[in-house]
This record gives sequence, C-alpha cells and structure tokens, in this order.
Amino acid sequence: MHTTALVLFSGGQDSTTCLAYALSRYERVETIAFDYGQRHSVELDARLNVLREIKSAFPQWAARLGEDHLLDLSVLGKVSETSLTRDTEFKMEANGLPNTFVPGRNLLFLTLAAAVAYRRGLQVLVTGVCETDFSGYPDCRDDTMKAMQLALSLGMDQRFLIETPLMWIDKAATWELARDLGGTALVDLIVEHTHTCYLGDRTHRHAWGYGCGECPACALRSKGYAGFSASLNKASLPAG
Ligand code: ZN
Repeated sequence: MHTTALVLFSGGQDSTTCLAYALSRYERVETIAFDYGQRHSVELDARLNVLREIKSAFPQWAARLGEDHLLDLSVLGKVSETSLTRDTEFKMEANGLPNTFVPGRNLLFLTLAAAVAYRRGLQVLVTGVCETDFSGYPDCRDDTMKAMQLALSLGMDQRFLIETPLMWIDKAATWELARDLGGTALVDLIVEHTHTCYLGDRTHRHAWGYGCGECPACALRSKGYAGFSASLNKASLPAG
C-alpha cells in the first residue's frame, strides 16, 4: 500500500496536474525540481506560485503537501547546447527531436528524485512524461520509465513505483483530468499560474493562460485547451 509520493514538479500544466493527482491519492506528498540554467526564471517562479495557490485553494491538499526540493543542476548547461540554456532559437532537428532535447536529461532527473525519495522515505515517483506529446523525447517513453523503475529499485534496493498519469493522454484530456481532480478551481489555477511557453512570455494572456502563443509549447497548450472547451460546451448543450 503506497501512501507517500515525490512529484517531479516544474510549475507547468502537466506537472501541476500530476501534483493534484498525487495529492488526491497519497497522504504525504513532496515536490522536486531541478535548476539547470533555464533561460527563464519565470518557470521557477511559477512553481512557487502554484504551490502557494494550491495550499490556499485546497485546504485538504495543503495538509498533505510537504517539503519542496530544488536541486542545482547547472552542470547540465555545461554538457549540452540547447535552446533552453543558450540564446538559440527553438527548432526541430533533422532527427525529429526539438533542439531543446538534452540527451538523457530525464534519466538524471529520475535518478536524483529517487535518491531524494529514498532519503525522505517516499515510495512513489510521479512524473508528467507523455508519449502522445509532440516531442517524442526517448527518455520520456513508457519503456524507458519501466526500465528506470527496475534499475532504481534494484540499484537502491528499495521498491520504487514510477507513476505516469499523463503517459497515454493528449493535452485536452490533461485539462479534463485536472477538472476531474480539482474542478473548475483547479483548471482556473492552472490557466492563471502554471507556465509552459518556451519564450518565458508572461505578458500575453489567452483563455489557456500566459504565453507567446506561437512556440510549440504554446501551440500544444492552446490546442489542448480548445479541445477541452469544445467538449465542455458540447456537454452543456440541452439534450435533444
Ligand atoms: Zn510560447
């Protein structure tokens, strides 16, 4: 019986939905993120804003929400040249992966998260990785997660469970999951306080939240929200 979890929490839509998922299931939930010289501190600010808003809007979850961990991973910026850590433009590479891809980044995140979970007595690692996402990051795939779960459990001699509630759903379904978990209040919180835009834009406000509206992350979030809204409108039409 699992009662404790550590959520890989970046302050974006996906990881915030995963945090709500964990808070609805587990008695004690902690959060972790990694600072590796992202160009935009808005991402790190968004984390703290989301945690604060969840505590104030969901008292039953606030009681379960424990420590937040932020690990310095500036070394990642030294081993990779990507548009997240350098001033180069976001683009798709010939191999079909965006140039934001840092080889093996998520493997490193999970290993460090498991080490913290071990020390903190937390049983489940919850992460918002997704195979239906456009990016196709190989270190976010279901097979990779299963292999990591086995490697971490063997290597630390402790049975870890890696949960990926978003693995097989699209962005519209991610909004729906948020509504199922925390109602309109959680959807509104995600719109207002989470951050997804690659350009760090917090000046343009859309129905789906803040962002440039143009980058692949904004495009995905916007499309997902449109699908979610359309299904809501359909459901609210009078029968017949
Ligand atoms: Zn954007």
